[in-house]
Amino acid sequence: MEQRKSIWETDDSGLTREGENRPRLTDSIKKDVIVIGGGMAGILTAWFLQRKGADVAVVEAAGVGSGQTAHTTAKITWQHGLIYAWLTQKLGPEAAGEYARAGQQAAEDYQQIIQGERIDCDFKRLPAYLYTKDRLGDLEDEAMAARLCGIDCKIQKETELPFPVAGALRFDGQASFHPLKFLRAVSEKLEIYENSPVLEMDGCTVTTPEGSAEGKSVILASHFPFINVPGYYFLKTHQERSYVLALERAQRLRGMYYGIDPGLSWSMRSAGDCLLLGGAGHRTGFIPKQDPYTVLRETAEAFWPGASVVESWSAQDCVAAGRLPYIGPFSKNTPGLYVATGFGKWGMVHSMISARVLTNEIMGTARRKKTIFDPGKRKLSTGLAAILKNGAVSTKNLMASWAGVRPKCPHLGCRLHWNPWESTWECQCHGSRFGEDGSLLADPAQTKLDFD
Ligand SMILES: Cc1cc2nc3c(=O)[nH]c(=O)nc-3n(C[C@H](O)[C@H](O)[C@H](O)COP(=O)(O)OP(=O)(O)OC[C@H]3O[C@@H](n4cnc5c(N)ncnc54)[C@H](O)[C@@H]3O)c2cc1C
Repeated sequence: MEQRKSIWETDDSGLTREGENRPRLTDSIKKDVIVIGGGMAGILTAWFLQRKGADVAVVEAAGVGSGQTAHTTAKITWQHGLIYAWLTQKLGPEAAGEYARAGQQAAEDYQQIIQGERIDCDFKRLPAYLYTKDRLGDLEDEAMAARLCGIDCKIQKETELPFPVAGALRFDGQASFHPLKFLRAVSEKLEIYENSPVLEMDGCTVTTPEGSAEGKSVILASHFPFINVPGYYFLKTHQERSYVLALERAQRLRGMYYGIDPGLSWSMRSAGDCLLLGGAGHRTGFIPKQDPYTVLRETAEAFWPGASVVESWSAQDCVAAGRLPYIGPFSKNTPGLYVATGFGKWGMVHSMISARVLTNEIMGTARRKKTIFDPGKRKLSTGLAAILKNGAVSTKNLMASWAGVRPKCPHLGCRLHWNPWESTWECQCHGSRFGEDGSLLADPAQTKLDFD
């Protein structure tokens, strides 16, 4: 089955990179910084570094923006579910405030880049709402924590949604855009090698099938870090998948919405004439009983009778144990190596934060302050439950594979699960995905599936 494409990939802007490949890496190059991965995180980081005077090259396994960034719903927001109450409780109000300021700065950075470079990418400021049908108390706690972080917000009872809510928490000044139009513009002046998967790393030298690149620093912006030891991100991170419909003749929403009720809760925003309806998420590899696209279609029919589906697709993202993304030095034992991952489905803002934080790490003064995103600063206790769960899922799937259940994932050997709704093999442990024919669809695996 052919993989589904998002509206960003199929729209008539002609802005996708298909058929316009940049060169492969066929030489041995030396740079100040090598960025692995040409998604939103890698490209923005390379862009910032170049602006600060660094000699940078991006090494991309496939094409720029061909990873999860092509399948996002592209809301630029610092409203990330019930995050501020949680951060305040777990890490204190200062950490929650730092998170809020980083998100606000990131949205500001997008606007400045878009205006400064005159990028035509449908960028629009608009409000975002967290809505609930029955968790008003949680929404009120979130509003209180957000206000303590300096966020101007309010709870509304009335919305433009086609169903009643108990409340909707409004943040003003958020934004939406076309992620691939933006990415194409910012990647134009960068040195990028496409179709050049990094197969090996030795210190700050990376090897691709036909070449190699050495940097004083290397940034792993490959979505899920594919180096297992040290770092141990395979224990600290898992992947969550969700599904999106682009609907015609639905409703033009003035705001962006995200439901917080467990079970059937939706993400919504308008994009041109389409309404994007997202949801039906699950941990990758834990296959839902009902087709998620049917669930979304039935929801669309109930809310917007007469709407029709233009495109449907899915995507997945890395979720960090302890909810804060990992942005900073990869580990204590890998000098010069940096990471940007664990964006928890909020990678537009987190990619921009990565760009700022990593540029500052690499080009800034030696005595810079550590950020809350620094992987080395993380308290084990905040993510312990998730780490234990990741360990349990891995143990179960590794044991099945040792007992002979096939196919097994080339990443760390876990058994794979068949997803009939997508015709894919998926790993519950770390989220690698493969097509029916074994072709590699999603990292951290770096090779195709062998059915032996
Ligand atoms: C359904 C859904 C909706 C979302 N909506 C939003 C939203 O509205 N707002 C928001 O902020 N976030 C959203 N997100 C999250 C966001 O899309 C992601 O966090 C973000 O796109 C991740 O960007 P990235 O650069 O880290 O990864 P990617 O875009 O996947 O880029 C990583 C790149 O690394 C390359 N790579 C991998 N391995 C190698 C290798 N060995 N060598 C070289 N290159 C390699 C890949 O080919 C890829 O191009 C959503 C996520 C999902 C699942």
